[in-house]
Amino acid sequence: MDFCDLSGKVVTKNNINYDELRQVLNRSIQNFPIAIVYCYNYDDVSNAIVWARKNDISLRIRSGGHNYQGFSVGNTTLVIDISNINYIDINEENNYVKVGGGIKSSKIYKELSSYNYPFPGGTCPNVGVSGFITGGGWGLSSRKFGLGCDSLIEVEIINYQGRLIKSNKFVNDDLFWAIKGSGGGNYGVIVSMTFSLLPKVDKVSLFSLYYPHASRNTQFEFFNTWQNWIITASNDINMRCGIYNDLTDGIYVSALGLSYNDEITTTKNLEDFLNIKGCILNIENIPLFEALQKIQHSYPDYEYFKSAGRFVYKNYDTYEINHLLSIINDSRPYGSYLTALNMYGLGGNISKTKNNDSAYYYRNAHYILSLQTKFESNDYLISNTNWLSNHYDYLSSLTYGNYINFPYYPLKDYEKEYYGYNLDKIRKIKEKYDPYCFFNFPQSVTF
Ligand SMILES: Cc1cc2nc3c(=O)[nH]c(=O)nc-3n(C[C@H](O)[C@H](O)[C@H](O)COP(=O)(O)OP(=O)(O)OC[C@H]3O[C@@H](n4cnc5c(N)ncnc54)[C@H](O)[C@@H]3O)c2cc1C
Repeated sequence: MDFCDLSGKVVTKNNINYDELRQVLNRSIQNFPIAIVYCYNYDDVSNAIVWARKNDISLRIRSGGHNYQGFSVGNTTLVIDISNINYIDINEENNYVKVGGGIKSSKIYKELSSYNYPFPGGTCPNVGVSGFITGGGWGLSSRKFGLGCDSLIEVEIINYQGRLIKSNKFVNDDLFWAIKGSGGGNYGVIVSMTFSLLPKVDKVSLFSLYYPHASRNTQFEFFNTWQNWIITASNDINMRCGIYNDLTDGIYVSALGLSYNDEITTTKNLEDFLNIKGCILNIENIPLFEALQKIQHSYPDYEYFKSAGRFVYKNYDTYEINHLLSIINDSRPYGSYLTALNMYGLGGNISKTKNNDSAYYYRNAHYILSLQTKFESNDYLISNTNWLSNHYDYLSSLTYGNYINFPYYPLKDYEKEYYGYNLDKIRKIKEKYDPYCFFNFPQSVTF
């Protein structure tokens, strides 16, 4: 294969770093592309698309490499890696920030918070912002500011012809609608994103709740409190919480949250959780910049995991809660060092936008409920894959639709699960902007 017409830095199987560079965060997924092209500018991206079409090679697009199913890398594909197109241009006069399509959360957080601007990003520093916002984008600030995609005002995309197109609410507005929630990798390569700047914030309250060695009763009380709390909580506060079965620490409950209020108001907002026996609260009112650094500090460079997350629309009864808890209280699958039942708070300003105002459909859900197992190596892949698939049907029976940023490969009717009643419109937009389905992967939009 002749790679001479590609520009940027090309890594093939002959490169000594190939085996490391083809990896994504979730090492339970192993794919072997024919080459990875690291793009440094828009022309490199355009050339790669034209080259792949000419040579009849499938493409994948990689930004942060954090897709749960590793869809940004594929066997015998050309991977366009855009992580080096990561500039940031903060324009305070016109109230926007324009960033390169390969920027990661950590950089946008660092730069914006140094001017006291919050950003509706996620919790992991290495997630690619274009992968994040195309799935909607959940974070600890979402109840206050909406999803990541709700602050987006424009994207630039390089399409299947290698041409740069702009998309915003006036130009290619259908594509702009679709970008906000129908998942990455479907319409072209996003090379830039422009977000409106949010109101400046001086200090925030960062908190954690921890219930070590939580009894079954404590777990139950926590879950029940959570499901009532999340539908009545102030929009200024949000958290990610869960019940964990950990090889070292046993069974515990923990939560990490952010509040745009002072310490006293935040503690009052958490009263119901503090009343549960054994609660350890840590709370500090600190500059935004510092809080974001703390939120992002504990993520590994890579891991092995299986996970799926779905939307919750109702409160569960005693039987249902107990069934969910038993999944975590039963022994972990062979080789797993952590199983988790995670909850990610929704509502607030997320649900102010209508289901069909953008491709992100599940606007009125209370929270995302996810199951996850983490394991030591691929020697334990089968037992952990089976664990998730054995419990998935129960999770599915209680919930509606899958969160596309937590994709689950075995899903049968994946488009319906990810897009709900927005599917027909998403398919028409796909056909218009990618008529040959050149941008495809195992769970891409079809028509
Ligand atoms: C540890 C961890 C923490 C996470 N935390 C959160 C969280 O707090 N909130 C949340 O909502 N999600 C979270 N996620 C999920 C994450 O948002 C999604 O996996 C997201 O798609 C990752 O984007 P990426 O660019 O890092 O991944 P990649 O694997 O590079 O890409 C993801 C998908 O988007 C496509 N894509 C990437 N870049 C582009 C581009 N420039 N143009 C077009 N398509 C592109 C890829 O082809 C792929 O299909 C987390 C994931 C992990 C592993």
